[in-house]
Amino acid sequence: METQEKIFERDNANYLPVFNRYKIVLDSGDGVYLYDLNGKKYLDFLAGIAVNVLGHNYKPLVDAISNQAAKVIHVSNLYYTEPQANAAAKLVKLSGLDRVFFANSGAEANEGALKIARKYAKNFSADKVQIITAWDSFHGRTLATLTATGQPHYQEGLEPLPQGFDYVHFNDIAELEEKISDKTCAVMLEPIQGEGGVYPPKADYLKKVRNLCDKYNALLIFDEIQSGIGRSGKFFAYEKFGVKPDIVTLAKGLAGGVPIGAFICTEEVAKAFKPGDHGTTFGGNPLACAAANVVLDTIPNEKFLSHVEEVGKYFKDKLLELQKKYPEQIIDVRSEGLILGAEINTEKKSGVDIVNSAMERGAIINCTVGKVLRFIPPLTIEKKHVDEVINILDAIFAD
Ligand SMILES: *Cc1c(COP(=O)(O)O)cnc(C)c1O
Repeated sequence: METQEKIFERDNANYLPVFNRYKIVLDSGDGVYLYDLNGKKYLDFLAGIAVNVLGHNYKPLVDAISNQAAKVIHVSNLYYTEPQANAAAKLVKLSGLDRVFFANSGAEANEGALKIARKYAKNFSADKVQIITAWDSFHGRTLATLTATGQPHYQEGLEPLPQGFDYVHFNDIAELEEKISDKTCAVMLEPIQGEGGVYPPKADYLKKVRNLCDKYNALLIFDEIQSGIGRSGKFFAYEKFGVKPDIVTLAKGLAGGVPIGAFICTEEVAKAFKPGDHGTTFGGNPLACAAANVVLDTIPNEKFLSHVEEVGKYFKDKLLELQKKYPEQIIDVRSEGLILGAEINTEKKSGVDIVNSAMERGAIINCTVGKVLRFIPPLTIEKKHVDEVINILDAIFAD
């Protein structure tokens, strides 16, 4: 077998160096654990960035993918397939919306949502084009979605950017009230900001956003690529906050690790697109949809979702205990279900150091925006796995 060093070397010589990679070669997975090429075991509290919602090597998912691959992997969207028809029907039922489009990634799902919103707004006036998003948001890496992303460092050097985007601070309703008008085509928000540092919405913030959108005939788009698929303890985080969007986007966990994205919209919005107005070669192919169907049959049931809620609450309590023990190192703890953030004092220890030290001790965790430890584990984790990561963090903070 090849050594990890040989693989680092070959990859570094050939792959576009856009990722700061950790020095391990991940080779296999089982449940909530991953193994590197040397056989070292890691508790996985990143789940491929909120993707492996059912953990690794989950038998029903592996079987569905293998069976579908043996049958047919891909056919063109010019034809119907049963896996796609089934997955779309499930998403319509779960969302309370009317129409689904499948893409291959989060960015693509958002790109489609923005396109249909722009087209829909043309029903009202030619200059109803403004799209309002939040600072510290993350919506993807295509030119339109990185423009929607309210973090300038993703945009620098890529100008000219698509026009019509404006930004407000998440949770600041007064600022939105100032910026929104009849010229606003859509407001796009993550109901829980993920990449930007795990920020849940303040009480009634999203309801007030909904009301403002209604007042100005602007569409409300929720990017649930990270917060959706059961992560918050509800299938869609918006159910938790009692606010229904006009369009919702999904990706990440939707097919448990097979690339997929989706936007779901109301019938009224759907009418803005005619045949030929949007498309994709791969999006929602039988392989991806067969995988999605397993996720959609597993996660949206009461028992599964209450497990997420319960383990999430246990995890939060443990992080709060840790904060009590190390008040100078942990500044804040924020969470909804199984998306949790622990903001750290980087003057004591840097995020990179904590993540590296956790990796040495056998846990994969993540630090976002340089100062928030973000935990987005498989939704199948149990309390004993929480204890395992908490013990590792305790040892790191004590060090
Ligand atoms: C990850 C993410 C995206 C982008 O998804 P890709 O599949 O990487 O294109 C968009 N929005 C949110 C909220 C995300 O977390």
